[in-house]
Amino acid sequence: MVSYLDVERPAPGTAVRVAPGIHWVRLDLPFKLDHVHVWLLDDGDTWTVVDAGIGNDATWAAWQQLTQTTLGDKPIGRIVLTHFHPDHVGAAPWLAEAHGASIWMTRPEWLTGRLLSVDLDAGMTDHVVAFYRAAGCGAAYLDYVHRTSDAYARMVAPLPRSYRQLRDRDGLHIGGRTWHVIVGGGHSPAHACLYAPDDGILISGDQILPRISPNVGVNASEPDADPLADFLASLNRLEGLPEGLLVLPSHDAPFHGLHGRCEELRAHHDARLNDCLTACRDGATAMEVAQVLFDRPLDDHQTGFAVAETLAHLNHLLAAGRLTRETDGDGVWRYTAV
Ligand SMILES: [Zn+2]
Repeated sequence: MVSYLDVERPAPGTAVRVAPGIHWVRLDLPFKLDHVHVWLLDDGDTWTVVDAGIGNDATWAAWQQLTQTTLGDKPIGRIVLTHFHPDHVGAAPWLAEAHGASIWMTRPEWLTGRLLSVDLDAGMTDHVVAFYRAAGCGAAYLDYVHRTSDAYARMVAPLPRSYRQLRDRDGLHIGGRTWHVIVGGGHSPAHACLYAPDDGILISGDQILPRISPNVGVNASEPDADPLADFLASLNRLEGLPEGLLVLPSHDAPFHGLHGRCEELRAHHDARLNDCLTACRDGATAMEVAQVLFDRPLDDHQTGFAVAETLAHLNHLLAAGRLTRETDGDGVWRYTAV
């Protein structure tokens, strides 16, 4: 069971101290998931910030307000980005330029973010549409994909052409603390968590969240990938950390109860795998299975996540030999339980 840290949630543009030298900031997002967290780490003469928020006017206004309040005259020297998703990196290029700060990421996250923000030719759109067609999505959704396949580039200013690389098990010295980099997979290619063993604190990004299950999805760039295997392996690794840690996640609120949450997430994915097998008893497309797993009305934005997440479970079952996949005459994948 998760137990939330007993502090009030910060209003947008303000910071709440959660440990010595560590401040929690909540920034608005224009989605159903309506907020993301960033962390301000006091680093002596400068600040290190972890994640930056999405790239829009509201985020920029919040950073300017933070400069008046918590940041004060001390510049941001370093921006650590947990992963390339737009709600985490979108505002980072502006912030880096305004403060002369360096950007620190794992190499796969930098490469992916940089590539998506510059890959805008028509062939990319056709490729993504073909992927969702093979997943069994209908014409209305494919039209939405056609109109929005450049969404990443619209939400994220291109990442800088150079950056500082974070590697698994690196130690980052920030404000008298040593943070160990723990690289995880499944939600994004090489997501960085930061762990301060002496203080018992884990900045978990989206790798582990207290309430929602981090999206584990298959994308058009790697249609045969098994990201669920990566995610489950990362849960095993996080479970090897001490139980009493204070976990600082990118959504919801800081919490204790890491091991129980890892167990809940593993049980959630096991149940999803079983639901997929049941849905594929007589053969089904990924879209048909998604409608069973996500048994509620989904808008177009959510449909993309639902199909990607369903494909992650189907690919995991394919890899285990528990499903077969055939391509029908229309080029659509059909999955059947073995
Ligand atoms: Zn994410």
